[in-house]
Amino acid sequence: MQNKHVAIFGAGLVGSLLSMYLIRRGYRVDVYERRPDFRKNAAAGGRSINLAISDRGWKALHEVGIEEAIRKLAIPMPGRMIHAVDGALQFQAYGKEGQYINSVSRGDLNIAMVDAAEKAGAVFHFDQRILEMDPECNTAYMEDAVTGKKYTLTPDLLIGADGAFSMLRLTMMKTDGFNYAQQYEEHSYKELHIPPAADGSHRIEKNALHIWPRKSFMLIALPNLDGSFTVTLFHFTKGENSFAQITDTEKLDAFFAEYFPDVVPHLPNLHADFFGNPTGSLMTVKCFPWSKGNAFLIGDAAHAIIPFYGQGMNCGFEDCSVLNALLDAHADDWEQVIPVYERTRKPNSDAIADLAKLNFVEMRDLVADPDFQFKRKMAAKVAEKFPDQFIPVYSMVSFSHLPYADALKEYKRQDEVLSTFLQKPDIRSEWETKYFEEIANALCNL
Ligand code: FAD
Repeated sequence: MQNKHVAIFGAGLVGSLLSMYLIRRGYRVDVYERRPDFRKNAAAGGRSINLAISDRGWKALHEVGIEEAIRKLAIPMPGRMIHAVDGALQFQAYGKEGQYINSVSRGDLNIAMVDAAEKAGAVFHFDQRILEMDPECNTAYMEDAVTGKKYTLTPDLLIGADGAFSMLRLTMMKTDGFNYAQQYEEHSYKELHIPPAADGSHRIEKNALHIWPRKSFMLIALPNLDGSFTVTLFHFTKGENSFAQITDTEKLDAFFAEYFPDVVPHLPNLHADFFGNPTGSLMTVKCFPWSKGNAFLIGDAAHAIIPFYGQGMNCGFEDCSVLNALLDAHADDWEQVIPVYERTRKPNSDAIADLAKLNFVEMRDLVADPDFQFKRKMAAKVAEKFPDQFIPVYSMVSFSHLPYADALKEYKRQDEVLSTFLQKPDIRSEWETKYFEEIANALCNL
């Protein structure tokens, strides 16, 4: 039994995972969440907002002993299904045979994790909001969201897992030497819904992440277990062709008919969804240090990223796994562990933030670009022939545990190599013959 009382603020995906790690290490763990207990209101939303889990996420779920339970909630997606405007479909595998990312309902995942954490011994306090903290005196200033009653907590350690708009981070921002940058994208997003077919099956291919790339904007769809899909439109917030211009059902119908005609028959509630659902903004947050006194940040509170690599949660889960390994290595000496944790994770969370931005361009534009597809084809062939010497960047990020910072470096290197070969006038006819050995040698030079 560790002689420490830990308070985690935020019972989201990362807070509930971290509570399991710390309970397993023998700490006394209380988790404070500003929302009501979402397990009691699970049916209220009725809809599934989903996320993609990949290998980094699975590793952490495995370490806390809930991988198998969560796999039952997940739908494998071995590749992207690209939808052209004329309805033509093209499937692009994400990796090798047997490699896939997984669609899981955010709500179901969060509920399963809180249930597992509670069963393990973490104590959850819902409707409890942290307003401010004093990290030097280990004090959290709290408010009961139902009664409005204010009170203080004095745990030994305060952990900010309170998401992209973290209150703990806000408090740290007022202290000397804290660096902070926040950047909003020009794009925002709106969630829509493809319901199941009459017989309960999926209306479009179940085992794929669907993308309708339209250069500067795109639509995506991820499958849910109940036969439905969560659809997300990423579009400019304002300007000539933007959300701001779609002001009535006529304009909405015209927009979908022009850009996404094949999906229209599958969106019977388009009008209600589009005008009823909020438009979400997309933001990247970078800050440092991630700790102050006896408080530190984890997950989106430390590094919110845009969702185009499907890695925000996976990165937050990896934070927890790395922290746990450091606690092992330093016999739970937090004074040693925290500086190493933040120094190790910071370059990696910065790198995945940058990769997510690059992948947005890839998803909305390049996947439909012939040069890009050709570069992918060359890289895929090298990966197939030399699986141990060459790992494509998507696989590094999604199917390995190599540091994100290495994946970013490799992205730049591989892209340069492939772009150089693309300049050769006879590359398209000769790449598998005259040039293949040269391409393979250059790409495998890890
Ligand atoms: P959150 O999940 O935001 O949890 C924070 C918790 O803290 C919440 O429960 C909140 O209510 C609580 N809280 C906030 N303030 C307070 C307070 N003052 N006091 C107490 N509690 C508080 N990631 C992936 O890995 N794969 C994906 O496919 C993916 N898709 C995404 C799609 C979209 C559209 C978006 C926006 C994000 C996506 N992400 C994805 C990112 C992922 O959602 C986040 O990285 C992840 O939710 C971070 O978990 P967290 O626990 O750090 O924060």
